[in-house]
Amino acid sequence: MDYLAGLNPQQRAAVENTQGPVMIVAGAGSGKTRVITYRVAHLIEKGVDAFNILVLTFTNKASKDMRERISKVIGSEAKNIWMGTFHSVFAKILRVEAEKIGYPSNFTIYDTDDSKSLIRAILRELQLDDKLYNANFVYNRISSAKNNLVSHTEYMENAEIQAEDISNKRPLIGVIYETYTKRCFKAGAMDFDDLLFKTNVLLKNHPDVLNKYQQKFKYLMVDEYQDTNFSQYTIVKKLAAAYQNICVVGDDAQSIYAFRGANIQNILNFERDYPDLKVYKLEQNYRSTQNIVEVANSIIANNKNQLEKNVFSDNESGDRIKVQRAFTDNEEGKIVAEAIVQERSSKGYNHNDFAILYRTNAQSRAMEEALRKLNVPYKIYGGLSFYQRKEIKDLIAYFRLTFNPADEEAIKRVINYPKRGLGDTTVEKILVAADQHDITMWQVICDPQQYIAGRIANQLNDFAVMIQSFAAEAKKLDAYETALYIAQHSGILKELHSDTTDEGRGRHENIQELLNGIKEFGEREDIEDRSLAVFMQDIALLTNDDKGDDKNKDTVSLMTIHSSKGLEFKNVFVVGLEENLFPSQMSLNSRTDLEEERRLFYVAVTRAEKKLTLTYATSRYRWGTLTNCEPSRFIDEINARYLEIEVAKPAKSTLNDDSFSSERKSWTQQRDTFSKPKPASSAGTSGTSTAPRPKTTSMLPKAHIPTPGFAPDAANLFQNGMEVEHEKFGFGKIVSLEGTLPDVKATVFFQGLGNKQLLLKFAKLRIV
Ligand code: ATP
Ligand code: MG
Repeated sequence: MDYLAGLNPQQRAAVENTQGPVMIVAGAGSGKTRVITYRVAHLIEKGVDAFNILVLTFTNKASKDMRERISKVIGSEAKNIWMGTFHSVFAKILRVEAEKIGYPSNFTIYDTDDSKSLIRAILRELQLDDKLYNANFVYNRISSAKNNLVSHTEYMENAEIQAEDISNKRPLIGVIYETYTKRCFKAGAMDFDDLLFKTNVLLKNHPDVLNKYQQKFKYLMVDEYQDTNFSQYTIVKKLAAAYQNICVVGDDAQSIYAFRGANIQNILNFERDYPDLKVYKLEQNYRSTQNIVEVANSIIANNKNQLEKNVFSDNESGDRIKVQRAFTDNEEGKIVAEAIVQERSSKGYNHNDFAILYRTNAQSRAMEEALRKLNVPYKIYGGLSFYQRKEIKDLIAYFRLTFNPADEEAIKRVINYPKRGLGDTTVEKILVAADQHDITMWQVICDPQQYIAGRIANQLNDFAVMIQSFAAEAKKLDAYETALYIAQHSGILKELHSDTTDEGRGRHENIQELLNGIKEFGEREDIEDRSLAVFMQDIALLTNDDKGDDKNKDTVSLMTIHSSKGLEFKNVFVVGLEENLFPSQMSLNSRTDLEEERRLFYVAVTRAEKKLTLTYATSRYRWGTLTNCEPSRFIDEINARYLEIEVAKPAKSTLNDDSFSSERKSWTQQRDTFSKPKPASSAGTSGTSTAPRPKTTSMLPKAHIPTPGFAPDAANLFQNGMEVEHEKFGFGKIVSLEGTLPDVKATVFFQGLGNKQLLLKFAKLRIV
């Protein structure tokens, strides 16, 4: 079959070996995702029923892409394959089975805002200090408990967990967890982690259900397996238990979700779980140039914890990796935007051949500004998504109530929006009554005379009747008509219409946009159930990575590195390579965290096919303060042979540039102020580094330190055998020097650390 011709022998073996457990742990760009795609096509070609295949991907986008590719080989059968993220697939199963675990099938999915709002309400009720019991902290704690399959009862009974909470001075998290669970249950709501947690409960307590899905999913495949958490691991293991036709692919070097509970142990456990396991190695990278692959290898070699693998590329060696310095984040944006314009016109690239990747969403601002100035079309993935906007969430809360009036967070959100005389005091009264009688808020609202005193019964009654009328209409109308009816009759459209400010108009347009989206959804032919309820489920599960993907639009992509997983672009810019930003400040305290940051860098670098550019700024606004920055240690770690370092442009030319002059002025002013009172700090520049640098820093005098990219001549000062001091590694001796200016590299022997290779332009070496 000719589709198999597009595979190398190892890939082909993994595709053809369809029976029994298979694992592929291989480096980036080696065709892991391609193997899954072809394997599915191959199964169907062999006669396996598409309905018997389950493919779990990391983003909705990934599954959409995969389905498209499969349908190119096998045609419309591809529609019938179960394919999606863990959350979307198991939400779909829970809709069918929810009643078995006591939930209504129309359960609401609480997003993180809903969860945190509920936690804050519980903190108030329990009269706990919300600074100590910070909602984010509590949320994360509950989330990791669920991802490790620790129920609230187990949480409270587990001595180790209790001891940890007590030592953190937050002994009552277990109580909050319990209340939170009960409240979600009462509201008919599941949070994101519940979609997996409750699936586990379902499969554990209902062998008949487990058996049904084991029989259904005779073939399972999981992409990006390195990022599964324990809860996901357990689901997969259970489902695969009957037939063991399971194929997982992943790359331990790309495990970047430990903070969400992903556990590299799952890869190692896999071998233990399936003694018959067949392991395939893929070593050839088809995505990137040799230089890019070598750079990636040299980066990851700095991590101690990794499975050994060899990755090579047979592609052209390609350009060296460009490292560019900017003075400010705005200038960094300008450099990137100009490079895109230039490369595009000189090499005939499209805009969508370019991606700008950053560590944090906040970095997109400077990039956007620069791209706008040069009229470069771009699209941001992630950030505050459309569905997180207030007006959208308000209308959606009405939709939610239409299908599940018990939804407590939705009630709280819109009971008094638009204003109808049902303020905070009323909400408080409803909550108290609901608690006292152990009923839902909705039951109180439907029968106010019975449960609460006061004169608000009429308003409550009106509210209840309105929601009931929405539910009645939803039964008669299609998705769009229902949505429009609710937007009109809830008063939201009128409320926004009367706000004539620019923002008000913007909000009105957003609502229109949502309604347009629902209309389009209602016209889709690839799904059977086009009701508003299904639309709601889809959007509840959109992740930041999935939005607004429009392949036909020719735009530059901007996204965080986390969102770029699995993707590839001809030209990639990784920006903001500065200490305390990338690696992030929070990662500097432990090797484990730092290694995760390094894996993130590895992910970023391996997205590039042809050309990779790394940039950093020597100053940047962070939390409202202009901060001096140092180049990331990650640049230091790359073998200098593969780099092409752009020495700083003479400051003059950029100083006179209108677009950035205001920025520069404030930067200089600030620098002057800082330089006087402060003792010499890192890099010999006057810095306000946001994080404490290692202690040796303060010992460094200002003179003779080659500031990154600034003074290539300083490299001339160094000679073999010379004793030097490095701000991170301490005292050492130069063993050898190689290369030519400006790329001179020194091998330095440091006491206790051994030899380190340093690029003099970046290393902050001082002659002692
Ligand atoms: P990542 O680790 O980044 O997710 P991956 O291992 O999943 O990468 P793929 O995305 O499947 O890699 O493949 C990388 C690129 O190489 C894709 O463009 C793919 O089409 C191409 N490719 C993979 N295998 C082959 C092959 N045998 N022949 C030609 N191209 C290939
Ligand atoms: Mg992949």
